[in-house]
Amino acid sequence: MTKEELALETVGRLKQVYPDAGCTLDYNQAWKLLVSVRLAAQCTDARVNVVVQGLYAKYPDVQSLAAAPVEEIEAIVRPCGLGRSKARDISGCMKMLQEEYGGKVPDDFNALLKLPGVGRKSANLIMGDVFGKPAIVTDTHCIRLVNRIGLVDNMKDPKKVEMALWKLIPPEEGSGFCHRLVYHGRDVCTARTSPHCGECCLNDLCAKNGV
Ligand code: SF4
Repeated sequence: MTKEELALETVGRLKQVYPDAGCTLDYNQAWKLLVSVRLAAQCTDARVNVVVQGLYAKYPDVQSLAAAPVEEIEAIVRPCGLGRSKARDISGCMKMLQEEYGGKVPDDFNALLKLPGVGRKSANLIMGDVFGKPAIVTDTHCIRLVNRIGLVDNMKDPKKVEMALWKLIPPEEGSGFCHRLVYHGRDVCTARTSPHCGECCLNDLCAKNGV
């Protein structure tokens, strides 16, 4: 089976198992996803979803958050870890949205990359989830699973994995595929225990099965 064939089969099977897989960060406006995705670094999405409630109760829009003292943002987001740098990035990001984009999130990948605290993973997530554009989100689950499955070979660098997957995954499938990898990585192809290959929908085609 070629890597292209393996990719299509993997996309199809995960879609059957996780038909409704979406982003596990709660948000109802694009700028809130930007905030949450920054807070989610080295933190669980569940905790981020709780912490942002306090943040938005005090600062309900881009304008108010852009004007908020960084120390006050830090005091609220501290439970997510890395409070100082996350608060600084969120403040800088909201200021740039306010000053350069009229408070709106730009729907341009390179413009997103220029926002403080936004890297390729976050920019792809925004492009896919907010704007419905092709996206490959290479988080820790994605990188672990595509290596195990055999879609890439011993490749750990997020940008290299992203570039390899762009060549294998149909563009319209990328965003959903990456969300499904997160679900599958949490439930079946786990990081901290041995993967549950016996219960896995990919077990007859995965390169790592049984290893
Ligand atoms: S067969 Fe095992 S290693 Fe491969 S994707 Fe499934 S759980 Fe992960």
